[in-house]
Amino acid sequence: MIKIFGHKPPDTDSVCSPIVYAWYLSKKKNTPAKAYIAAEVNKETAFILKKFGAEKPEMIQKVGPEDQVIILDTNNPEELLEGVNESDIVEIIDHHKLAGGLSTEAPIKITIRPVACAATILWSMMKKEGNTDIPKEMAGLMLASILSDTLKFSSPTTTEEDKNACEELAEKASVKIDKLAEEMFDAKSDLSGMSEKDILLSDSKVFELGGKKVRISVLETTKPENALSMEKELTQGMREIKQEEKLDAALFFAVDILNTASDLLVPGELEEALAKKAFQKEFKDGRMHLEGVVSRKKQMVPNIEKAIK
Ligand code: MN
Ligand code: MN
Repeated sequence: MIKIFGHKPPDTDSVCSPIVYAWYLSKKKNTPAKAYIAAEVNKETAFILKKFGAEKPEMIQKVGPEDQVIILDTNNPEELLEGVNESDIVEIIDHHKLAGGLSTEAPIKITIRPVACAATILWSMMKKEGNTDIPKEMAGLMLASILSDTLKFSSPTTTEEDKNACEELAEKASVKIDKLAEEMFDAKSDLSGMSEKDILLSDSKVFELGGKKVRISVLETTKPENALSMEKELTQGMREIKQEEKLDAALFFAVDILNTASDLLVPGELEEALAKKAFQKEFKDGRMHLEGVVSRKKQMVPNIEKAIK
């Protein structure tokens, strides 16, 4: 039984694409496989799983030499389960930059393409292999992953292929794209029961940029004010995380999905200077408003990296 999983903390793509691919390999390729998660799912993903009647994958803490694994939606060992480099990696399917650090003993199948979502790659694979006859549930999970990763096509990572895939999958899943996206984003914007650390770490990655360790946290929401009103708690939370993790910098972007913009909060002067250099803008009332900036991969990271260098 091959174990399939994505990155941690998991987003919708990194939970749903492993479910879909495990189903595909088991049902269409005679290769038993099962999806797993490395940490608890977020509210958007929980909504999607319920909506399409999919079971939440079992959570595991590590893998080992006895495990055959397939990695989806990342190629960065830092974002993966403990022990992944000791495990038998058989395949990687991803849409992020090559991070380096994963190694294998034998040649493996790797598919990394510049599309917005791992599910887009899965769907193109199914089409190529003539296996487009799929259950509604699987179509729905892939559709939701693409809508999540593209923020319903507003992210600059979006390609024509992602959009076309959504049209095709929406028909297969018998759902309306606009309505599904609205429901997903509402679910994601519900901050009830979340502490400032939950908000800071639910969609967050650490990057090594110009020799500095930088944590970039993102909250995609239709109600940015709900988070921004917690400015004091969030900046204090960032200071604590910085200390605990020995980071050089931490930044928090509240991404306004409906208006394709973001507001940046920072914990200190160092980040303030860095942000001014990266985005050529000033802070106003403790935040920097960034029109059109929604993608960590294509906008936040490259600008911050350039500013550090
Ligand atoms: Mn992801
Ligand atoms: Mn993804």
